[in-house]
Amino acid sequence: MAEKIGFIGLGIMGRPMAINLMKAGYEVHCYDLFQDAVKRVTDAGAKAAASPADVARAAEIIITMVQDGPQAEQAIMGKDGVLDGAAKGKLVIDMSSIAPSVSQKLGKACAAKGVGFLDGPVSGGEPGAINATLAIMVGGNASDFERAKPVFEKLGKSSVLCGGYGAGQVVKLANQIVVGLNILAVAEAMTLAQKAGVNPETVFEAIKGGLAGSNVMNAKGPMMFNRNFQPGFRIELHYKDINNAMQAAREMQVPLQATANLQQILTSLMLSGDGKHDHSAIVKFVEKQAGVEVKKT
Ligand code: NAD
Repeated sequence: MAEKIGFIGLGIMGRPMAINLMKAGYEVHCYDLFQDAVKRVTDAGAKAAASPADVARAAEIIITMVQDGPQAEQAIMGKDGVLDGAAKGKLVIDMSSIAPSVSQKLGKACAAKGVGFLDGPVSGGEPGAINATLAIMVGGNASDFERAKPVFEKLGKSSVLCGGYGAGQVVKLANQIVVGLNILAVAEAMTLAQKAGVNPETVFEAIKGGLAGSNVMNAKGPMMFNRNFQPGFRIELHYKDINNAMQAAREMQVPLQATANLQQILTSLMLSGDGKHDHSAIVKFVEKQAGVEVKKT
């Protein structure tokens, strides 16, 4: 019989993921700090638990999908957290995007109690969570990964074991660096073209099929020149990921100059009230410096 699943953190990502597991036939026990979030998942058939510890008592595999490291630590290692309820042999999978060093700490705390641990951050955003097409980047040991695979198959289109505890988070940070810097490059190119009097939409059409083209350009270029900054993926989440990347870079003694610059730009956008906008709004920082607005003509 399929293992029972616990799901903690029922926000933009967690809710559709929990619902997909139920659609696949899993019994789901869920918890969130917000009752509204819980209700939307219990209405779809999940059982509500009183705390993360209760989730861990009821389920064999416990997934967390919260904002960042402090929330993951609270849910797993805090008072009435998962480890207060998890017996030996259970498996915790933290699918939040957090700093690799925090995943390592969580992994060690789980191992000390005989509980398995995987970090499994995702890419694909809300549509990927709804359509079960997420890409899942996993850190941990091979036997825990094999145990989790049937669950990952119901949540995403791929899952790759990348190394030990924290390795999934390292890969997710690599992803966020490439995406963020690619958006910044597109934003600078569009801004230059605009000020030079060339329609940014024409720039996009002319170069998207060549070496400069990318999934990022295809998705974010039109959002810039159409002035559509509805998320998508919010600046505030990318800011959190780039801060985590810089924390990891400090710990590893790796100078990341372009990423450090991106961190400053995202800080500025947070201060200008753009945190809730899609990360294509990075263009707003660049165009402000140039005194021009990127817009198709
Ligand atoms: P969200 O803010 O919508 O949801 C997080 C949920 O976790 C909230 O409902 C919150 O109440 C709950 N929570 C926090 N601490 C808790 C605790 N101690 N116990 C129980 N519940 C707790 O965030 P989201 O957009 O669903 O993102 C979740 C994670 O996925 C983040 O790390 C984010 O970076 C990552 N992610 C998000 C996207 C996206 O497009 N939204 C894409 C890829 C990855």
